[in-house]
This record gives sequence, structure tokens and C-alpha cells, in this order.
Amino acid sequence: MPELPEVETIKEDLREHVVGSQIARAEVLEPGLVEQPAPEEFARRLENVEITGARRRAKHLIVELDSGDALVYQLKIGGQLLLVPPVEAPEVALMLVLHLDGDRRLFLRDETRFTRARLLSPEELEERLAPLGPEPFGDGFSARYLKEAIGSRRAQIKPLLLDQKVVSGIGNIYVDEILYDARLHPRRKANTLSGTEWEALYDAVKKNLAAGIEHRGTTVRLYRDLLDRPGSHQDYLRVFEKHGQPCPACGGEVVREQVGGRPTHYCPACQREVAGNGYDMRLEF
Ligand SMILES: [Zn+2]
Repeated sequence: MPELPEVETIKEDLREHVVGSQIARAEVLEPGLVEQPAPEEFARRLENVEITGARRRAKHLIVELDSGDALVYQLKIGGQLLLVPPVEAPEVALMLVLHLDGDRRLFLRDETRFTRARLLSPEELEERLAPLGPEPFGDGFSARYLKEAIGSRRAQIKPLLLDQKVVSGIGNIYVDEILYDARLHPRRKANTLSGTEWEALYDAVKKNLAAGIEHRGTTVRLYRDLLDRPGSHQDYLRVFEKHGQPCPACGGEVVREQVGGRPTHYCPACQREVAGNGYDMRLEF
């Protein structure tokens, strides 16, 4: 599923190739895509409007229109936004087509059908984005913020990092890589982290997301950019879907287990389930 680096890449592509275009009409091929308003009104309000901007907030891709509305995509597992031409028109799993000037079309394709779109007024957009936690590259995010926000929680660190109200934009691929870099076991309870570990976690969040952006996203299976190109960050993953393979740091075997209901990949030797003082927190209860 597209996370911060993938949505950021598509946003930049939209700025380069699509912003400034006119939408002649919208074709809703999968009404279940449209969360808000009703599909008919959604299509009507997308007729004869200009795309004036593109931005990202968390994993939301926000297309700004001269009508004042914002078209908000939440690209899920198989969500792809493809500009035709230059790429070939996709024929299957189409959910929405925006007919642009210059005989171009912006296709939303998702073979998993989980992607959703909304057309929101400025007030509705603000309300929608309000609960989201700070952006990892924004001013409000720091090691101190993390510690203050979740440092007293007895919950496991991995699900907390996936909570978009805690920090925006991290999903299941980057979180495993982040915890590996910070040498934190995914099941560590947040209230057992030391000051040094909060710093390491903060550094790992920024480092991994920045690398993901630099490599134009991670294509494990379905992710493509606007021009149908895969990203390359999958070549830099150390633990995600590397179970059964050696850990690049210690040579031990990377394992896969469910944590918080999500498949989770880590190195049991590098990421120990004990607090920094060597005391095994599993014995606490
Ligand atoms: Zn290791």
C-alpha cells in the first residue's frame, strides 16, 4: 500500500505533468470508489474544472481544483494513478477516469478495489485532516514529541507507529525497516524505551522515509508512479519480506510473525524484546 514516500512521488509527478490541466469530465466506473458525495454529484462537480495544485497529507493525495473543491485519493494496496498518454491505457480494474485537455486521461486503477476517493469542500477537507498526527518532515515532529505522545503507553511500539494520529504516513513496509534501524523489537512496549531509543527511533523514521522518497517509492508488487514506473527502494529493504534470509548486520535469520494483526519482519538477534537495561519485560506480568 502506498505510504508517505509513494504518495509523495505521485504528488510530485502530478505537479510536473497534470497541474494546470482542465478536467473536461469524470467517468466513475466503480461507484464504490466514491465515499463522498454521491457518485453522480462527485462526477458533476468534476466537470469543467481546472487542476490548480497537488499536495500530500499523511497518505492522502490531494488534488486542488479551481472550484474550491479538493479531490482526495486514498490509494490502497493496488491503487495506481496513471497518465495516458504517455503511458498505455490500462484496460482492467479501472475505477475512475478523468478526461483532461490535450486528449489525455488520468486513470485510477486498483485490482484490489480498496482505493477510495472523496470530493471535499475546504471545510470538509480540514475536518478530514484534523485528526492526523504530525508529518515526519514537519516542525511538530521530534524525538521529544514521540516520547511525549506515546512514551507512557504500555502498547506495542509497532502498532503505535502505524497509528496515523500519532505520526502521519508510515505503513507496514517502512515501519518494519524503521524498527530494524532503531534496533527495536516490534513488540517492545512504548513505556520501556530509553531516551537514546527514542532518538534512534526518530532518526530511523526520517532516514527511512527520506530514502524511500529518494528512490521514488517501494515496489514490492503493485506500486507504480504516474508514468507507470516502479520505484527502487525495494532494493534497499533489509527485513521487510526478507524472512528466512540473513540479517545484513548480524547474519542471523530474519523472521516473520504477526504483530498487532500485521505481518511483521525483524531480526530477533538485533531487535531484542528486552528493555535497554537487559530486564526482560515479558516477565513483568
Ligand atoms: Zn541481525
